[in-house]
Amino acid sequence: MLQNGIHHVTAIAGPAQRNLDFYTRVLGLRLVKKTVNFDDPGTYHFYYGDESGQPGTILTFFPWEHAAPGRLGAGETQETVFRVPEGSIGYWTHRLVEKGVVLEAPQQRFGETVLAFKDPDGMRLALGAVPGTEHEPAWTADEIPAEHAIRGFHSASLLVTRAAPTGAILTDIFGFTEIAREGSLVRYKAGDTVLGGIIDLREAGEFPRGRSGAGTVHHIAFRATTDAVQAEMVKKLAENHGIRTTEQKDRDYFRAVYFREPNGILFEIATDDPGFAVDEPAETLGQALKLPRFLEPKRARIEAVLPKVV
Ligand code: ZN
Repeated sequence: MLQNGIHHVTAIAGPAQRNLDFYTRVLGLRLVKKTVNFDDPGTYHFYYGDESGQPGTILTFFPWEHAAPGRLGAGETQETVFRVPEGSIGYWTHRLVEKGVVLEAPQQRFGETVLAFKDPDGMRLALGAVPGTEHEPAWTADEIPAEHAIRGFHSASLLVTRAAPTGAILTDIFGFTEIAREGSLVRYKAGDTVLGGIIDLREAGEFPRGRSGAGTVHHIAFRATTDAVQAEMVKKLAENHGIRTTEQKDRDYFRAVYFREPNGILFEIATDDPGFAVDEPAETLGQALKLPRFLEPKRARIEAVLPKVV
C-alpha cells in the first residue's frame, strides 16, 4: 500500500549532550543513529525515533555547541507534534513540569487535546492526544511507562504566508487531502497513514521571514516508498508546478531530493528504504558513531573534533 506523510523532521540544536538528554531521557525517544552531517562532518547528526526509526517517527538534529538562536517566521515549520495516548496528557504535564520544561496549558485543536512545549533550544513541540494509541506498541526508555510513551509523529504545522500554494503541493504530490479548517489553520491528511499523516498549514499573511538557528527546523521530509515513487513525484513537481528538485543524494538510511516549496520551506522527499539497521544491528542502534563510507578514512580526525556525548 502506498504510504505518504512525514518521513522525518530535521532541526538545528545547541549543545549535543543537552539535545541528547532531552530527547532520550526526558521525552523517551530512541537514538536510532549517531552519525555526522554528511555535508559538514565536524557536526553530529542525531536521529531519534521509535524502536526501529520508522518513517513518521524520526526527528533529527544538527547540534552545534555555539549555535545562535533562530527566530520563527513565515516559510518555516512551526511546530512538531508527537502522538500520545489520550489518557497520557496528565502524565506528561506532570513529567515536563518536573523536568523544568517550558509548557503551555493544554488546548483543543480540531477536537483533540494538544500540550505545547519547547525543547532546551526553544524548538516548538507538542503532544497530541489520540484515542486508541495506548494499544500500539511503544519504545520505552528508563522510567517512562509503555502506556504513556510517544508513538511517532502526530503532525507538523507549517507557518506560511498563503496556504493554497503549499496545499497544492501537499495534495498533488504527497497524497494529502484537505480535511478541516479552524481559525487560520488548514488541516491536511495523508490517506490512512497513522504515523506523521497530518500537516497543518497556519496561514500568517504578511509575517516576517524566520531566521535559521538553534531551535528552528531546517527541513521537513515527506515519504516516497521507493525510488520509482520518488521519481514520479519529482516529475510531477516539474510538470505541474514548475519546481525542480536537487539531484538524488544518498543519505545511507534513505535517498533524498530537496526543493523549496512556494512559501519558501525546504522540503525533502525521502525513500522508506533501507532504514537504520542497514549498518548496525537493530538491537544496538545509535550506540556507535556511524560514518558514511566516504568519511571512514577520516574517522580519527572526525572523532577528535566531535564533542563527547554519553
Ligand atoms: Zn532530511
